[in-house]
Order: sequence, then C-alpha cells, then structure tokens
Amino acid sequence: MTLVPEFQTSPGMRDILPPESARWQQFVHVFAQVSESAGYGQVISPLLEDLGVFQRIGDATDVVTKEMYDFVDKGGRHVALRPELTASVCRAFVQHRPLTPWKVWYTGSQFRYEKPQRGRYRQFDQVGIEVLGADDPYLDVEIIALGWAFFRALGLSKVTLLLNSLGEPADRARYVDALRAHFEANLIELSEASQQTLLKNPLRVLDSKRLEDAALIATAPRIAEYYSPEAAAHFAAVQAGLHALNIPFTVDAKLVRGLDYYRHTTFEYQGGTLESAQNALGGGGRYDGLVESLGGPATAGVGFALGLDRTLIACDDEGVFASPATDVDVFVVDTTGGLEALLLTNQLRAAGISADRAFENRSMKSQMKVADRSGATFAVIIGSNELDAGAVVVRPMRTGDTADSTLSGQSTIPRTELIEYLQKALS
Ligand code: AMP
Repeated sequence: MTLVPEFQTSPGMRDILPPESARWQQFVHVFAQVSESAGYGQVISPLLEDLGVFQRIGDATDVVTKEMYDFVDKGGRHVALRPELTASVCRAFVQHRPLTPWKVWYTGSQFRYEKPQRGRYRQFDQVGIEVLGADDPYLDVEIIALGWAFFRALGLSKVTLLLNSLGEPADRARYVDALRAHFEANLIELSEASQQTLLKNPLRVLDSKRLEDAALIATAPRIAEYYSPEAAAHFAAVQAGLHALNIPFTVDAKLVRGLDYYRHTTFEYQGGTLESAQNALGGGGRYDGLVESLGGPATAGVGFALGLDRTLIACDDEGVFASPATDVDVFVVDTTGGLEALLLTNQLRAAGISADRAFENRSMKSQMKVADRSGATFAVIIGSNELDAGAVVVRPMRTGDTADSTLSGQSTIPRTELIEYLQKALS
C-alpha cells in the first residue's frame, strides 16, 4: 500500500519539477529576448497589492467579483494576490511616474479562484507586455507583432489572431446602450447567468459561450456601426499595419475581452489545435481610464498577457518547443574519498564547464551508473593511481551518437591540462 502524504498541493496549485521547469524558464527567456529586442524592460511587481488596485479593473468581471484571493493582513489592510498584472503595472506607473512611453514586459504567477481543469489553474503563470503613455495605432501593431514573433520563436505556426475595436469610450457607451436594449427586449431567451451579466455589463454577454445565448448574440447590434471617425481611422490603421507586416487576422465583432477597461483595439491569440475551452492562449488590447482610476493622469495604455500553460499545450499539440537539454558536460567519478571530486567540479564550473558528481563515496561501478544517467558528455575519473600521478582519466560517455574522434576512446590527461582538453573537446 502506498502511503498518501499528509500534505499535498492545494487544488489548482502545482509543483513544476525538472525537466518541465527548464522548459518554463526557457519560455520566459525567449519572451524576454523578443521583448528586449524591441526596447521593453522588465518590471517585477509584488504578488500582493491593496485589494482596491484590482477592484479598479471593474466590478462586472468574474476575476474581481468571484475569483480573488483576498484577505485582511495582520496590519488590517485588505489585500489580494494579483489575478493579473495590468493593474499592478498601472499602479506602479502612478507611483513612480516613469518617462513615457513606458515599455515594460513581465512574467510571474497570477491567482484566480477558478474551477481547476486542464489549462485552468488557481495559480498560473503569464508573460506579457504593457506600454503606457502612447496613443498610436502602430504601437498596437507593434505589440500584436511581438506576440506573433514570440509564437514563431517557440516554433508555433498554427496560432491565429482575432481582432476587434471597441471604439472610443463614447462610441462604446452608445453601443452598450443599444446592446442592453437588444437583450432586454428578448430577456427570456437569455440564460440566467447572462441575465445577471446584463445587469452589470451588457458587453460581457457577448463573451458568453452558453448555447442558449448564441441566437440572441448572433442578432445583436455590431460595434462597427457605432464607431466615430477617429475610432474607425484608428482601427483602419491597425489593420493596415498588420497587413504591411503580413500578419493574418480575422475581425471578430464579438471579441470584447474580459476586463472592462478596454477601448479601441482588442485582440486574442488562439491555438490551432486546442479544445475550445482552452483555446485562448492570451490576448489584450488598448485601455484607458485605468491609470486615472488609480490616481494618475489620463494615460493611454496597451498590452497583452499570454498564459504559459495554454501556450505550452499548444506547443505540445504542434510538437514544438520541447524541454531543453539540461545535461551537464562532465560527471566526476572519484574513488579516493570525494575531496578530489569537490576540487575538480569546483574548478570545472569556474571555467564554465558544467559538472556534477556522486556523493557518499560509492563504488566505481555505482558512480559510473550515475554518470551514465546524468547524460554527461564526459566522465572524468580519478582513482588512487591517477591521484598519485597527478592525472585523471577522461572517458567519453556518448560514443554511440558522435563521429568526433575525441569522443571515441578514453585518455589519461595531466590534471593541469584537463580544462584546456575539455574546452577543446566540448567546443
Ligand atoms: P486574461 O488575463 O483572463 O485575459 O488571460 C490571459 C491568458 O492567461 C489566457 O488566455 C490564458 O492563457 C491564461 N489564463 C487565464 N486564466 C488562467 C487560469 N486560471 N489557468 C491557466 N491559465 C490562465
């Protein structure tokens, strides 16, 4: 009978263990490269903020009303674990007043008390970017293109892009009135849940995936009929920019996205092969009012966030972006007591050669087994004969998969020449 441990991860929380953790790290590394190549700097925000920071996102969203991990801390402050990072970035902007445009990228865990399922967890990681202080449609295009470049860098080729515009706030307000009138006139055809959503924000009804709402959503008024000339021009410029960069997209008039503060451009990246519930890899858009509602000056903002889990599921589905190899270069086998292995691994690591070793003074045979399992390219072996002679034996471990002559046989090397020998052999 296997014993069930007393403590396990809470529902929706996971341990990310090696080698999967190396894949996560590489994922963030690729995102950092794409972002930093475009002049974005990383912002590292706290996991915990005043609850009010997130309440500014809007009170018609499940994220704020139902899914927040909030509590009163020992100092009596009502705080919350962050459910997303846009609000934290805007709070940081108000607090530190950086020069604009402020171009930042981020990564980290978010917390939402949701029903756990594949691709949906209570603690999950995102990467994202935000730009505050520039209201230029080509910036929307830059951002969308960076997400696109990131997917390409991971090797994904089946991601699709949905695009919409919510117009200027006044357009949006007129549209919301029209939507409300449409749904209210047909209230009994709407699901119970969507009737509740309607009371708070008619736009969010368009987000409903419930079958019983589909007919009424299909006949709802379209946002495009409410665009002001400015909003229409902004949207046209975004589309022209995407065309110029050869980024394919589909305009989806129902794409309103979860949060209440969006205006103008909204977009979503969808995986090519995922089931629809986990289809959204991420998305974003342009927002205003958020910086202002957090006590700052009226400031334009645009950004997106991508979920690691769903993007990695998409990678699995497309058979790309495997876990990177984390094998060490060298495994040191020491049968003289272990001190030599301590010295050698230290020396090798200092020279930039990754090295591991066995502990507990095991037999030669047992250490060689571990060396084999480690995936190291070379075993460096030191026994009492080698110790007396000031030498080591270098044994290639993966002779099967190389034609390189340095890897074909073992050699005895003076210790003073070991680093140079390995550097050459590993290059
Ligand atoms: P949102 O901040 O809601 O726009 O979500 C952006 C992206 O984050 C989604 O498209 C998902 O990839 C990811 N995401 C959101 N919620 C979760 C969750 N509970 N578990 C895993 N990933 C999530």
